[in-house]
This record gives sequence, C-alpha cells and structure tokens, in this order.
Amino acid sequence: MSEPSVEEIVRFFQAKGVSGLCPACRHDRWIRLDNPENFVWVLSARGANGDHVIPAPAIPVIALTCENCSFIRLHAAIPVKNWLAENPPPNESPEP
Ligand SMILES: [Zn+2]
Repeated sequence: MSEPSVEEIVRFFQAKGVSGLCPACRHDRWIRLDNPENFVWVLSARGANGDHVIPAPAIPVIALTCENCSFIRLHAAIPVKNWLAENPPPNESPEP
C-alpha cells in the first residue's frame, strides 16, 4: 500500500468532516513532514515505568505541518490508508 499524497489526505479529511484549517493560525495549506518513499514517522511507546521497550510498540502516523506557522498535526496512518484503499476517487476503480 503506497503512502497517500497530501491531496489524498485532504480527500480523507473532507469525507470525514475534518477541518483542513490549521488550529493555530487558520491557514489551510499542509506539507508532509516525512518523505514517504524513504521514511515515515511513528509514535513509539515506553514501558509504564519509563523504561525503553525493545522492540518499542509503535503507531505509524501521517505527520503534516502548516505551511504558514509550522504547527504539526498527526493522524494514524493505517486507518487513513485503509479508507483511501476502500474509497478510491470516483474516476478510479479499487485495486484488485
Ligand atoms: Zn498554522
């Protein structure tokens, strides 16, 4: 499953009723913080006592930054990617 483009992420936001406005400055342009062809961000966990856990449980995230004020927003990547695969744009058919 390929990494979604900003345009695909915006399509997901619109379908889910997610505001595309930056909560800090109200601008509406976002840039991915990762380079999906090379790496993606994850939230990793530590033990409840603060110790590192190896391997650390991790959640892949889509990290976007506001083009104006650099506010960072995160969305869990797997549900977004699953929704995009199940809901292709109207002019495309789903992958077999
Ligand atoms: Zn902003």
